[in-house]
Amino acid sequence: MARSDRFLNLAENVATLSLGVRRARIGCVVAKGSRVLATAANTSNNIPGNLVTNDRLSKHAEQGAINLCNPQGATIYVVRLMADGSRGMARPCKFCWADLLKVGVRSVVYSDWSGEAKIELVRE
Ligand SMILES: [Zn+2]
Repeated sequence: MARSDRFLNLAENVATLSLGVRRARIGCVVAKGSRVLATAANTSNNIPGNLVTNDRLSKHAEQGAINLCNPQGATIYVVRLMADGSRGMARPCKFCWADLLKVGVRSVVYSDWSGEAKIELVRE
């Protein structure tokens, strides 16, 4: 199994620890090479990309994870675990993207609506 798949599986496991609602459990892994620097689940029912419900009073998984380590040059892996156990869209919201850029995260690998992994570089 490719390393990125193992990190995504870890992110999915971390998502089971989420305090969010069942359809919005998000797990995030920060990794550099083969090293895991930090993991975190979201602590709210906010849905990535849903800016209407994003009140910034709660903590997204990406926020929690990048605050636990030095994520400069790292890749983050984000998985959204749906109520039925499948993966859903986990692209970080615009607030998280801004923070990822600020702390120097290099790239993001996330599950999309089909459960497939997408990769994006973090840039302006
Ligand atoms: Zn976010």
